[in-house]
Amino acid sequence: MEYAAFVFGLIVGSFLNVLILRTGTDEGIGGRSHCSHCKRTLEWYELVPVVSWLALAGRCRTCRAPISIQYPLVELITGVLFFIFASSWLPPIPLGLALAMIALFIAVAVFDLHHSLIPDQWNYALAILSFLYGYAIYGAEDIVMLFSAGPIAALPLFLLWAYSRGAWMGFGDVKLALSFGWILGPLYGFVATMFAFVIGAVVSLGILLPLSALATFAQKRGSKSLWQYGAGFTMRSEVPFGPFLIASCVILWLSTLYGIHIPLIP
Ligand SMILES: [Zn+2]
Repeated sequence: MEYAAFVFGLIVGSFLNVLILRTGTDEGIGGRSHCSHCKRTLEWYELVPVVSWLALAGRCRTCRAPISIQYPLVELITGVLFFIFASSWLPPIPLGLALAMIALFIAVAVFDLHHSLIPDQWNYALAILSFLYGYAIYGAEDIVMLFSAGPIAALPLFLLWAYSRGAWMGFGDVKLALSFGWILGPLYGFVATMFAFVIGAVVSLGILLPLSALATFAQKRGSKSLWQYGAGFTMRSEVPFGPFLIASCVILWLSTLYGIHIPLIP
């Protein structure tokens, strides 16, 4: 069962790659996949999740253009998370909702990294799925609590958005955090939103700061390629917050499902 979920996750991840790539473009998601460089339509054996990328050593079979490591990573992360959720105690209906939300979370995180934007239809789908999940897990005995869990989790981001008039926080992040409350309940949903700032700070100080220092160093040495590599991280004024929010929610979600205590969190 868990292994079937892993393979299913790899396939879903492969679909997510297409969805992420083509959302916001004129291209529909139904067309055949092709090399983004030479436009050649890919054969079925070039589309096997993770395996094809490894076998082709990350390059197109004909034009040798590099294929982003994002493709196998999205597939692998989806497969591993599907495996972990399918191994939990969740009954079939909440599990199905959880897997659908995990797929959407991955799409949102990667799309936000590229575009600093979260498509509204993905946020609305997450809000509906998470509300149904909350209803399935927590029941409707406290109907007020059930409805207010989403807004409570989103409140800190809403206040930042309102106070900064959208400068510090996009409204897409506020809408995304609604689902945290319905997945985790009001308390842990709120904690998930706050914990995202901790993850954001740790990643910024631990990865982005050294990278920008490296970029400055490389720039002085005149190493252009290394400078360009770091420049992608330094020249951007805003780091998208969606990936941190989602990482935080998934970590807390798994910790509650598996009863694992996380340091810093009550
Ligand atoms: Zn090619």
